[in-house]
Amino acid sequence: MPVHRRAAELTVDVINARRDGLLDHVWAAELITRDPLPVQHRRRVEEVDVNDLEHTMRRLADELHPVFTAPDAGTAAIRLNEVLATVVVQVSVSINEAWAPHLHFDAHHDGLAERLRVNCLVSIATVLADQSGAMRLGECAGEGCRHVFVDFSRSGHQLFCSRRCATRTHVSAHRRRLAIR
Ligand SMILES: [Zn+2]
Repeated sequence: MPVHRRAAELTVDVINARRDGLLDHVWAAELITRDPLPVQHRRRVEEVDVNDLEHTMRRLADELHPVFTAPDAGTAAIRLNEVLATVVVQVSVSINEAWAPHLHFDAHHDGLAERLRVNCLVSIATVLADQSGAMRLGECAGEGCRHVFVDFSRSGHQLFCSRRCATRTHVSAHRRRLAIR
């Protein structure tokens, strides 16, 4: 099953915002205006319960962070399955002109927060169920950086959350080698 990439990327943003202490009421309010969200919603910002969204995104970050930092895919799956057991999944097919056909997993009667949570959880499940067997959830190896990432690279050997962290780490390793000489 293909990964719902926007949902996986949102999950990473939510976990990293939580780690950085940024996931507050303002962050949640801004999330509603983010376009596109991985669920269809026509509600205006004023109609969404921002407190509920903030609370649910914090919950999502806390329940998924241990999945990203698991030592291997098997452990990650055990941790994720405990979380998946708590959600109600309702599958629907989305076909519209804006996006390639894809599946949604949220129950339409749920609020925006829970619908986002369910789609994020399923997107991470599909990343873990990667046919190649590669563990594509990780935590950045950059010095002082604890951001998580989903590895969308072909090889599946990503170590850093960003090019910036990779460059920074390689430069400081190079400097250390020069200092030793
Ligand atoms: Zn990093």
